[in-house]
Amino acid sequence: MAYMNKQLQHYVELSDTHSVPTSFEKFINKHKAIENIILKKGQTCYCTHCSHEFTSNAKINKETRCPYCKYKYLVRRFTLKNYETKKDLILLDKVEDKFILRVFELYSKYNPQFKDFDYSCTEYRRVFFDDNSYNQVVEGDNVFHTMGLSVVWHFKKRSCWKKKEWSWYYRSYGDTIGYICPYNIKQLLKGTKYQYTQLWKLVSRIEPFNLVELFQKCLNDYSNTFELLVKAKLYHLALVSNRFGSTKKSFEERFGVPKSFLPFMQKHNITYDELDVLRCCKTPNIRLLRALKGCHNLLWLSYRIDFLMAWRCGLLSQRTEHEYKDYLTFAIQLGYDMKDKTILYPSNLRQAHDKLENLVEICRNEANSRLLKERYEQLKHNIYKTKKFIIYPASSSDELINESFQQCNCTKSYIEKAALSECDLYFMRLVSNPTKSLVTVEVRNNQVVQAKIKHNQEPTKEQWRFLNSWSKNILIKN
Ligand SMILES: [Zn+2]
Repeated sequence: MAYMNKQLQHYVELSDTHSVPTSFEKFINKHKAIENIILKKGQTCYCTHCSHEFTSNAKINKETRCPYCKYKYLVRRFTLKNYETKKDLILLDKVEDKFILRVFELYSKYNPQFKDFDYSCTEYRRVFFDDNSYNQVVEGDNVFHTMGLSVVWHFKKRSCWKKKEWSWYYRSYGDTIGYICPYNIKQLLKGTKYQYTQLWKLVSRIEPFNLVELFQKCLNDYSNTFELLVKAKLYHLALVSNRFGSTKKSFEERFGVPKSFLPFMQKHNITYDELDVLRCCKTPNIRLLRALKGCHNLLWLSYRIDFLMAWRCGLLSQRTEHEYKDYLTFAIQLGYDMKDKTILYPSNLRQAHDKLENLVEICRNEANSRLLKERYEQLKHNIYKTKKFIIYPASSSDELINESFQQCNCTKSYIEKAALSECDLYFMRLVSNPTKSLVTVEVRNNQVVQAKIKHNQEPTKEQWRFLNSWSKNILIKN
């Protein structure tokens, strides 16, 4: 419990004088009705809402619609004993310049004796806020917290309000989310700068969200944009109206898609994530948008492929997008015809990817080998030989790959650098056994910077003597 300052105390006292409007009772009743179930014994179903019986093949724990009251309910076994639900219902209210979220918990408990529900709806929290950054939470002494959960005592009368500080432990104080009653909002906002926002239309059309955040992020500076989005029936987008800016813009500038997509966007009440995908793929297909949510390469892909086609071929999902992008990159590097559908949409991605990866590798090696060969011609005067040892420069990728393999080291990874003459690689070997690797030597600016035998071990003293002599007699004189 924390100290409640005079201002907050004043707001709390004022809010206590407000009674619950009858429209909120209507809202509670609507939610009570939603909490009902259908009981099933054999083929016979019983609706706890309207008390009618009907026959149905509906499955246990799936939803089905009652043919009498037309509500859709969860189907449970007739023998059900314990069943209860809890949900937060929120009444928006206002005192002076502060808004209030009055939070009620609707507790519904199934009564197996009468095959109906007992309900209790209890207010346990109030959030005082404005559209700036004011945000104070008070809770009644009818709620306690245990193991990170809030438990409301429905049969204890609330005797006082206490201020709650937000803490990581009581995570839920940060955001109060629940079903918001739409019926009183229009009246409440009358005469305020929000009177044309149509907020009441939004709250009943989307799942529970953080209303305080909406006021503080979207409604304070972007209420015009918000209003426009709600009027356009783009309710999910209205929740993030701050992302669309406040200036007057054309539809296409605002949404990044042509206006002809509006009916599609309205029909599916699309979310911001879905719009993000739509911007890239420009294909009004909701299943496609949902499948591609969270993919990282959509913009890159949008210049190269037809999304619908790629998706139908199973090439596009969060799981395959990276492999598909790599595949297309290889195809571009190899100079393939990027209009050819058989190239763009391979039937077996893994196989096609591996095949092209090998081809790219081979081409890269060929290019490197050409450069290494040229470098060899410049370096071959450095070849040095005694009775026992010989040292000579690498002249191809294959040689370096072979050296890497024999020496169990990473010479291979130097191929590119050697081809670009950033360093020179030499092989030191026994004259008596010239095909077997002995010492791998890296030279930069005519100086030996690294010499390693197998497993990256240091050469022997005798081997170093040879290298020093080579360095002194040949390299230094370059
Ligand atoms: Zn019914």
